[in-house]
Amino acid sequence: MVAQKNNAGQGKNGGQAPPKVANFEVEPWQRECLAARLRDLDLSFSPEPLNVQTVGQAAGAQVVTVFIRSEVTRQVVEQLPDLRLIATRSTGYDHIDLEACRERGIVVSNVPRYGENTVAEHTFGLILTLTRRIHQAYIRTSRGDFSLRGLEGIDLLGRTLGVVGVGRIGLHVVRIAKGFGMRVIAFDVARQPLIAEVLGFEYVPLDDVLRQADIVTLHVPLVPSTYHLMKRDRFALMKRGSYLINTARGAIVDTDALLWALDEGILAGAGLDVVEGEELAADEERLLAMPGAEEKMKMVIRQYVLMRRENVVLTPHMAFYSREAEERILETTVENVRSFLAGEPENVVSGKPKPEQKAA
Ligand code: NAD
Repeated sequence: MVAQKNNAGQGKNGGQAPPKVANFEVEPWQRECLAARLRDLDLSFSPEPLNVQTVGQAAGAQVVTVFIRSEVTRQVVEQLPDLRLIATRSTGYDHIDLEACRERGIVVSNVPRYGENTVAEHTFGLILTLTRRIHQAYIRTSRGDFSLRGLEGIDLLGRTLGVVGVGRIGLHVVRIAKGFGMRVIAFDVARQPLIAEVLGFEYVPLDDVLRQADIVTLHVPLVPSTYHLMKRDRFALMKRGSYLINTARGAIVDTDALLWALDEGILAGAGLDVVEGEELAADEERLLAMPGAEEKMKMVIRQYVLMRRENVVLTPHMAFYSREAEERILETTVENVRSFLAGEPENVVSGKPKPEQKAA
């Protein structure tokens, strides 16, 4: 699909041409909003993700804004010689090759805060769906069957929630869990004892979280140390009949190991907003042409195997997706573009942060 252009402000008054800003994965309402707030810049919009196939749409761009389905690889970066800023409209930035950007001096900015409560609320949506079998009940009643057979759930009151990664989202999860009367234990590489005391949770080693929790919920970023954090020997530590929730990133969980834990009855269920290779299932045609297609196909097949299970609830990476959060995302992205163009980049995750700013 050809990128749509907004002509506003192009080379007006014979002055210097405004910077080109190519926006990818943009829905019509987002386009309207960005076009209004960045109207003095040379804007283009595309509903497609930025990747090797679509990179031509960003030709000449100094700035690109992307979302999580984009694959900003070294190859993509190499084809954009004028690129100076990649503003991702997300918190996570594992879809961007930071090393390739660093080598080229390209600044990468993110949206560190927009929906920590939003993702935490969805986390509880998944927890309640699974523990009260709402997904099964919904299908049944939609067929006119109002029997209760097999729909018995469990209470959250008094149960133990294990939070892995107590950052911005994890802390909101703790707050909500306390409202349900749950005991909360947590693991994080960086502890905040004062906050733990105020919110009423306890830090314990990861293995203890897995051994003690009735429900384990993941809120760590995807970095090399968290890749397949949930692997077979960690699932083996979990309480029999417990639940796993993942709203962080798919690759934090080894899907084969997850299927094993479900088969073994270690897990009573899993609630997944993210699954390894989720982007592939949405684009099977492109998948066939990809290098390493066989391994990628396996990822997609594992997703189908998960989908068929009654005790697995999948949502399409939508935990962030509320109207309020979306508005905050666009607001911060506009600020990120503006501050970069003014020479004072904000929310920098890679590149040159302001001296007082710590990269996330
Ligand atoms: P955050 O940076 O505030 O918190 C992450 C926490 O994880 C930090 O406290 C950090 O110390 C901890 N951590 C890092 N590495 C760890 C490790 N190896 N073991 C244990 N703890 C570790 O991030 P956040 O805003 O809470 O977001 C968490 C993740 O959620 C994001 O990185 C993103 O991938 C994901 N996310 C998903 C959605 C969605 O729609 N599903 C939306 C936003 C964010």
